[in-house]
Amino acid sequence: MSHWLSIVVATPAHSAIAGPLTYRSPSLVAPGTLVRVPLGKREVLGVVWQALPDSGGLTESQARHVAGTLDALPPLSADWRALVGFTARYYQRSLGEVALAALPPQLRELTGIQLARRLKRPVQDTSYTPSAPDLIALSPDQTSAMAGFDAETGPRPRPALLFGATGSGKTEVYLRAAAQVLAQDPGAQVLVMVPEINLTPQLQARFEARFAHLGKERVVSLHSGLSPAQRLKSWLAAHSGAARLILGTRMAVLASMPQLRLIVVDEEHDPSYKQQEGARYSARDLAVYRASIQTDCRVLLGSATPSLESWQATISGKYRLLKMNERIGANAQAGGLPAVKRVDMNHQPRHCVMAPPLVKAIEERIARSEQSLIFLNRRGYAPVLACHDCGWKSECPHCSAYRVFHKIDRTLRCHHCGFTERVPRACPSCGNIDIAPMGRGTERLEEHLAELLAGTTRPDGSEVRIARIDADTTRLKGALESQLASVHAGEVDVLVGTQMVAKGHDFRHITLVAAINPDGALFSSDFRAPERLFSLLMQAAGRAGRDARHSAASQMWVQTFHPQHPLFEALKAHDYPGFAAQQLEERQAAGMSPFGFSALVRAEARTQEVAQSFLNAASSAALAAQLEGHAQVTAYPAVPMTIQRVANVERAQMLVESASRAALQRFLAAWQPLLFETRKQTDFKSLIRWAIDVDPLAI
Ligand code: ADP
Ligand code: ZN
Ligand code: ZN
Repeated sequence: MSHWLSIVVATPAHSAIAGPLTYRSPSLVAPGTLVRVPLGKREVLGVVWQALPDSGGLTESQARHVAGTLDALPPLSADWRALVGFTARYYQRSLGEVALAALPPQLRELTGIQLARRLKRPVQDTSYTPSAPDLIALSPDQTSAMAGFDAETGPRPRPALLFGATGSGKTEVYLRAAAQVLAQDPGAQVLVMVPEINLTPQLQARFEARFAHLGKERVVSLHSGLSPAQRLKSWLAAHSGAARLILGTRMAVLASMPQLRLIVVDEEHDPSYKQQEGARYSARDLAVYRASIQTDCRVLLGSATPSLESWQATISGKYRLLKMNERIGANAQAGGLPAVKRVDMNHQPRHCVMAPPLVKAIEERIARSEQSLIFLNRRGYAPVLACHDCGWKSECPHCSAYRVFHKIDRTLRCHHCGFTERVPRACPSCGNIDIAPMGRGTERLEEHLAELLAGTTRPDGSEVRIARIDADTTRLKGALESQLASVHAGEVDVLVGTQMVAKGHDFRHITLVAAINPDGALFSSDFRAPERLFSLLMQAAGRAGRDARHSAASQMWVQTFHPQHPLFEALKAHDYPGFAAQQLEERQAAGMSPFGFSALVRAEARTQEVAQSFLNAASSAALAAQLEGHAQVTAYPAVPMTIQRVANVERAQMLVESASRAALQRFLAAWQPLLFETRKQTDFKSLIRWAIDVDPLAI
């Protein structure tokens, strides 16, 4: 007698077989079990989703058999399957794609025997012994945050948002909350999420030190920087329960952690929690969802500048707010935060890049052996190379964007498609040899600073040392670590960098941070640009004066043509709540997130016309079909994306909005089959791809 199973396999996102497939098996296999099954001519990894009462109409000859079970591995839990099911539904992707993407890639290649071999060496079970290291006394803020976090008990505690400036001791609160959970339950697991891999080594060291008594293999990390073998190892440790503390980036939210009792999301506002391809999920939002369905699992979000979505949730009472007002060990005034100085660029010499008072302030730091961080959100030498005779500019032939001039290897590089060429000797259009850089990137800023500080020396008479950290200087593995180490070791006086250095790093000797040209975000068409700028500047400011001895004298400089702008007023006052109130008011008036919900449908084709008309045709089809939820949903006409062409592919998008999340969800679910249908029409043969982005970050 044989059994019928519905099994989830990785199917291409746009194939018709999006749901689980039916297979035959000689024995009953528990849901969540990993199996190998035939698919076309290949044999692939699958997850048993459920046992079926019958063949569902498949005949004996049509039915294919399960080729093998990876029964060395315990089945994936019902909670995990529920999480994956939700993710696929909510973000409008196939179940198979989400489920298989959540598993370590190496698992797909292993046979049952190979897997059993990997699992052979069991981790010895040393359950938590409270020989924890000596702990520092919590500050009053930390004590009340901990008490607040513990105050709400019961099976479904609300998510908590820990709001505190950089250096207020949030990480210590995460450590305590984790320790408490691990001590209470000898099997409990804790997931700590960070936005970027760059930030994991520092945090990992801190967590490993604190939980060293658990045994080395109990603290694991999960992120895309791991080798496939390491990733499999970490995943298996999390799945088996051997790992008690899992530190990871966004992908970790979908890992199997059967005993998960606490999820911490550090820097919860960070855009890198949103996946930007495939299933475009928000790992923060999934963390909140996961905690809500998993038994006895709590979630703690933390930030100095929370996302407006989370902040609004504390106002409406959906989340609890835990507030920490002061930086640790800092002088009482202004909570030890650096003084914000706005430089009115209207009153500086024309075309000046660095205002003279700022240069003077940097020189003063150098004289005191303190460090400065100069921050510019654009890498390369100059964003454009131009001919002033004929107006030629360094456009990318494949994209609707300019190629950036990189002086170091004299290339023009497209930051969108990667197309790189040597800088032409003369203007390609008129032959003028006098082609010149326009605008400024970090590479040029570094050069300019070297000129400005040429006459300055360090206290011992030696030359000023300037360093740059951005995506270009850190391309090689280990480069970022070694560059950061030299900053920590005091081998650098002035550090020039992009937002990469504004985040997370614990620089002890930086007492001055300067944002050279932040104005662009004030008038951007992207409604989240001010939120991102504010949080970036607050975070950059947090780099200054982390060492309490310096914090009183620390400064954050902002060069701007709009010094009275409310964003800078709020920054000066270190007033996130004030800034948030002002932004939320605007968003409410405009019906934007968190007061309205949206999705983007993007389409790519060889011509803009095809991309747009595909979207418009699918939208008309939705209208004609009177889809569920349609009355509460607005679909706008298709428009070109901001960067309309990348690598010779034309891109268009359509915005879909609703005041009701549920209505938008119903509409998208009903619309998806129509999008597939529309795609099949001959007019859209040349369409390359389309995809839905639910809760997009940029509209
Ligand atoms: P955040 O995560 O909010 O930026 P951290 O937790 O990193 O803050 O704390 C900032 C600094 O203060 C760290 O060097 C940390 O070791 C120290 N610190 C945190 N809590 C305490 C405490 N209760 N007593 C003394 N030092 C503390
Ligand atoms: Zn020219
Ligand atoms: Zn390009």
